[in-house]
Amino acid sequence: MNITKAKNNTSTHAVIIGGSITGLLSARVLAEFFSKVTIIDSDELCDEPIPRKGVAQSVQPHVLLVKGYRILEELFPGIGEELQVNGALPIDWAQEFFRLVPDVGWGAIAESPSEFISYTCSRPLLEWIIRKRVAKLANVCWLDRHRVTGLVCNHEKKITGALLYQVGKTKEKIEEASLVVDASGRRSLAPKWLEKLGFNCPPETVINPFLGYATRRYKKNEDLAFEGKVMLIPQVPPHNKRLGYLARIENGEWIATLGGYGQDFPPIDEHGFLKFARNLPNSKFYELIKDAEPISPIYAYRATANRLRHYEKIQLPLGFIVLGDAVCALCPVYGQGLTVSSLAALVLRSCLEKRKNWSKDGYFLSSEFQKELAKSNFPHWDVATVQDSAFASTYPSIQKQGALNKFIQWYSQKFILGTVLFPELNVLFIGITNLVISPLRLFSPKIIFKILMAKFIKF
Ligand SMILES: Cc1cc2nc3c(=O)[nH]c(=O)nc-3n(C[C@H](O)[C@H](O)[C@H](O)COP(=O)(O)OP(=O)(O)OC[C@H]3O[C@@H](n4cnc5c(N)ncnc54)[C@H](O)[C@@H]3O)c2cc1C
Repeated sequence: MNITKAKNNTSTHAVIIGGSITGLLSARVLAEFFSKVTIIDSDELCDEPIPRKGVAQSVQPHVLLVKGYRILEELFPGIGEELQVNGALPIDWAQEFFRLVPDVGWGAIAESPSEFISYTCSRPLLEWIIRKRVAKLANVCWLDRHRVTGLVCNHEKKITGALLYQVGKTKEKIEEASLVVDASGRRSLAPKWLEKLGFNCPPETVINPFLGYATRRYKKNEDLAFEGKVMLIPQVPPHNKRLGYLARIENGEWIATLGGYGQDFPPIDEHGFLKFARNLPNSKFYELIKDAEPISPIYAYRATANRLRHYEKIQLPLGFIVLGDAVCALCPVYGQGLTVSSLAALVLRSCLEKRKNWSKDGYFLSSEFQKELAKSNFPHWDVATVQDSAFASTYPSIQKQGALNKFIQWYSQKFILGTVLFPELNVLFIGITNLVISPLRLFSPKIIFKILMAKFIKF
């Protein structure tokens, strides 16, 4: 199909299962190519930034990496300002992020402002702002409080719609479409739906670090000084399984999260939560929350396994694609999920633009997209699973053997130490972990020299 035609053809309809971040970003892209895009979600999508049942992780902290924020700006120009007007705080990660290197010190804060800017806010606020922007697209419609229960396909193995029912009612109906997009998250039932239609399930890789979070919101404690906007006391494999994360968010609130790898789960009772915080390798986190006024219960979250579904390896019905957490759900500690979803939206746009990815009768060919998506997801999967595997309790673990990998591990450790001494190295660390600088920069002669200098300095 000619793409111009696809854009202009009044009869094209795409349906998206899931109106969370991946679904919203997909809608933004699909609206350029289909005359009508319908977002279906089992939750009520209200006009307020509140947590919802279908996104169980919405009460947990959500770091928006610089790369993810830049993609959001590309898709929704001016979204940063809109976030700020609604209470989100801009953050310069090189100047306002305090990250502990246990037993050594805090990452060296940059002396001047950097280009590594994003926003810190609650997950519901971020999703609500994106939803408001998508709602402004004239050809996007919503079917909230509707649950999808299956796919509908014709005898030529081409998608003709999704099967769904209105929450609270029993009668099933079909929403007809020539493209169905599964963006229903970690708990996606697409493998079962495919099996029911006679297709194979995608092979799955699961690497479980058995990490648990416990999160509580506090009113900002004005009496206690914390110059930054985000603080991280990270886990350090193989022995230090615990982490603490504290961020300023909208409405003068703090979101405070404790984490434990290998089933060393942080307790969700007041006393246990504070005791866990007190035992972190630095007292700053505990000092900040111990007298602060809690304004929420303590919420636990434990479904943190890395799960990769290999849709690129199976045959799919024409006109059915899967993306976001439904394909690649990552351990949340590295804060990559939102950015991986944003990258997926760009992959989708680039595949939709190519004529070769459309059949003559106007179907978007799934296989090319799933292959491109797998390539885009892989580096992020690799980062999460290799680091998680450094804990003996992670199952199964990925151990990269060989002299080169041993050298990279050794060199990375020296680099991390160097980030405490040299702001320049810390800025580089921020750029790499925010996915805006290639890790290859670590091997430029100037950086190698600095890292080796750090090795000879006693802390
Ligand atoms: C504890 C935790 C912390 C995280 N922290 C971060 C972080 O700091 N930074 C970061 O970038 N990422 C983080 N993530 C990842 C991030 O939440 C996801 O990557 C992101 O939300 C994209 O997910 P998604 O849109 O694909 O799916 P989800 O956000 O899970 O949304 C799925 C949507 O589909 C709907 N749905 C499901 N089934 C159906 C159905 N059958 N019919 C209709 N609707 C349906 C649900 O209601 C929901 O709206 C974290 C994840 C977890 C679990």
